[in-house]
Amino acid sequence: MNLLETPIEFLKGVGPQRGDLLRKELSIHKYGDLLNLFPNRYIDRTRYYKINELQNSNSEVQIVGKIINIKTVEQGKGKSRLVATFIDETGQMELVWFQGQKWIRESIKINVPYVIFGKVSQFGATYNMAHPEMELLEEHKASLRSAMQPVYPSTEKLANKGISNKVINKMMQQLFVETQALFSENLPNYLLEELKLVPKNAALFNIHFPKSQDLLAKAQFRLKFEELFFIQLQLITKNLIRKHKIKGMPFEKVGENFNNFYKNHLPFDLTNAQKRVLKEIRNDLGSNAQMNRLLQGDVGSGKTIVALMCMLLAKDNGFQSCLMAPTEILANQHFNGITELAKELNLNIKLLTGSTKTSERKVIHEALENGSLDILIGTHALLEDKVQFDNLGLAIIDEQHRFGVEQRSKLWKKNAIPPHVLVMTATPIPRTLAMSLYGDLDISVIDELPPGRKPIQTVHRYDSNRLKVWKFLKDEIARDRQVYIVYPLIQESEKMDYKDLMDGYESISRDFPLPHYSISIVHGKMKPADKDEEMRRFSEGKTNIMVATTVIEVGVNVPNASVMVIESAERFGLSQLHQLRGRVGRGAEQSYCILMTSHKLSNDSKIRMETMVRTNDGFEISEVDLKLRGPGDIMGKQQSGVLNLQIADLVKDKDILQLARHHAIKLLKEDAPIEKPEHAKLREAFIELSKKKTIWNYIS
Ligand code: ADP
Ligand code: MG
Repeated sequence: MNLLETPIEFLKGVGPQRGDLLRKELSIHKYGDLLNLFPNRYIDRTRYYKINELQNSNSEVQIVGKIINIKTVEQGKGKSRLVATFIDETGQMELVWFQGQKWIRESIKINVPYVIFGKVSQFGATYNMAHPEMELLEEHKASLRSAMQPVYPSTEKLANKGISNKVINKMMQQLFVETQALFSENLPNYLLEELKLVPKNAALFNIHFPKSQDLLAKAQFRLKFEELFFIQLQLITKNLIRKHKIKGMPFEKVGENFNNFYKNHLPFDLTNAQKRVLKEIRNDLGSNAQMNRLLQGDVGSGKTIVALMCMLLAKDNGFQSCLMAPTEILANQHFNGITELAKELNLNIKLLTGSTKTSERKVIHEALENGSLDILIGTHALLEDKVQFDNLGLAIIDEQHRFGVEQRSKLWKKNAIPPHVLVMTATPIPRTLAMSLYGDLDISVIDELPPGRKPIQTVHRYDSNRLKVWKFLKDEIARDRQVYIVYPLIQESEKMDYKDLMDGYESISRDFPLPHYSISIVHGKMKPADKDEEMRRFSEGKTNIMVATTVIEVGVNVPNASVMVIESAERFGLSQLHQLRGRVGRGAEQSYCILMTSHKLSNDSKIRMETMVRTNDGFEISEVDLKLRGPGDIMGKQQSGVLNLQIADLVKDKDILQLARHHAIKLLKEDAPIEKPEHAKLREAFIELSKKKTIWNYIS
């Protein structure tokens, strides 16, 4: 049996209790899992500080010295702390313990040299260190340690139960002793040579016991490459398998509906980007494989008409199609927009949402099942079991961030043969994320806005400038333009946000009085019908100002609205700000976005404001967002599983990801099922990994 498969409790020094903790806290079940527990960072333990060199920098230091006395200090309320005086030849400081006082008091030796290690802080004139790591100088000298000391991931529970970093270090040493550090290579020789990667053995040794910065860097590079390379192999293999195995329903012809629409009813010339994307989609639809495509396009780039034209292709080939949107407002808008675009065509298009009446539902269900309904647009109401298609050929999903993976897959399970799938998103995803999350998907990008749009001008204003901002709004309204004023809505503080919104609404009503001005308000607590009514009044130009929470974030289209004021803009994330800004700039007039904040801004908030003011490019913004928040946050919790990387970092290791993807594609081009003899080891590792970690994506 492979030694690395040995249950972790068999490792000397672990045992059943610690084994249990390791399993629960760090998912370490076997020797191999421990081996792949990589340090978060390394501490330079080559340097010894003197007490008179200490600065209150909160940094970690190690010092050689002695404890000359130790006492318990009462803190009141039955609490106490243990305080020791620690000296070296240059001065003295205090060591402090709050926990485990009895044990420490009994085990500590007075007037014997120790090496202590930890964070220093300053209270008055005295430096102190709480819960230092301690080792007798004699033992310290005798122990084999590397200069760069690894710090492993840990949890509070582990620390409390005595599994300190030092203990994990010892386990790691024991692991290397028991396995004799013989770990088999899993990358082919030619790759090691070409990329100058250190062998697996050396990499694992140096990641845990680095002898120098240089060796550590080489080890990290090798292991990061390996991790990303295997993920890419998996994703690309999955894509190849899908294309081979899952027969799609070929949309062989471009027929009557598509041609008629293209020739006679296009309301505008398509942009080159739209044309290119349509071609990419048509290629997929015409092939024998199921389409699984992500369509990225910034707000306002014109995804809707692309969606419609795809649905016309479905119709031309005798298939039904559906379009699912995350909110009722957006579903409505799609329905209105698409019915309008397709009004000259003879199509049966219906809308299905939570508010669809039972009688209307019945009609829809029937028409769906007997095949007389061509296009169904709606919200997650589409996912209900009662909704059964006669022959669903194409499923389009708008704004995919809001749907869970399982939810979506319900849609394709409705058919014996999975329909073609097109996911549209207005939230640009950084290339690195797209590559690692959607490596098995095909991606189309509309990277061009329809002509004649002026870039939105964005400014950042403080609350103290509100009068000037209001004046500006009045000028715009005097020119017959309309204005959005948006308030944040954050789930946790819903009540307060609601109050902010209402206070804001009141003061706006005062500053923009009737009959000169009229104001709409939309928020989450309103009934859908009331919301729709207000939205309708605004979009028909009956009101000048729309005061809203972020319900308008997704998709509403009022081309005459030229100003977007975002209140408490510091409370919004970058992608949300960008989405909101996308609500204006939809007509030919100059549009503006005004970010209102207080004077007190965190560094991150400042960067967010500056980024918004600097650029309108959603991809650039998403890159900044990725740097600020990290990949997990951007994709939301449910998607973060994919990003559970052991060692690589999608922000910092972009180049390695690119390299890994390049080589994975190259390898699979030459040896798709991974069968060649020189790939035997790789194949083994690949199969092993696929068993453990299935990499899923948004769509499958
Ligand atoms: P999004 O990609 O945000 O969904 P929409 O499909 O809602 O964008 O399009 C935004 C606006 O641009 C709509 O009013 C639409 O009619 C218009 N539009 C789309 N494509 C073009 C084009 N090629 N030329 C001019 N206007 C276009
Ligand atoms: Mg849209």
